[in-house]
Amino acid sequence: MEQTFIMIKPDGVQRGLVGEIIGRFEKKGFTLKGLKFITVDRAFAERHYADLSAKPFFNGLVEYIISGPVVAMVWEGKNVVTTGRKIIGATNPADSAPGTIRGDYAIDIGRNVIHGSDAVESARKEIALWFPEGIAEWSSSLHSWIYE
Ligand code: ADP
Repeated sequence: MEQTFIMIKPDGVQRGLVGEIIGRFEKKGFTLKGLKFITVDRAFAERHYADLSAKPFFNGLVEYIISGPVVAMVWEGKNVVTTGRKIIGATNPADSAPGTIRGDYAIDIGRNVIHGSDAVESARKEIALWFPEGIAEWSSSLHSWIYE
């Protein structure tokens, strides 16, 4: 089964969107495999966003991510990376369709509430970075009601 890394960013936590966001992934049928509530430091945020270090918005992005606690999660399911990105919506909330998380709850690109891995390989790297201790070993008993 595919896994993805999802993070509710500090604005999502401050705005009380944690339950709403977790509920969307749960109700879709995906399985929660890891979850922690943490504030990361600058070095860690820079590692997470290392691929964007040359971007003009990089410093502002790092400041944003370290500005408060985040909810870091691992979700599992068929095509969860791609489908998770669809649930989240386009990077810029101005382009995110209504019904997506960013389309419903965000306005500015630099306060877009949530992160989701963009590929299976980046998900693997991000899960290893955020959950070095490993993740829960369990399988949902709802499996046969969700998958044919
Ligand atoms: P995504 O988070 O959708 O995978 P990117 O990896 O391109 O998007 O960018 C990472 C994050 O950096 C975005 O979610 C957003 O918070 C921020 N970001 C991207 N582009 C800009 C921008 N032009 N100005 C400010 N912040 C940006």
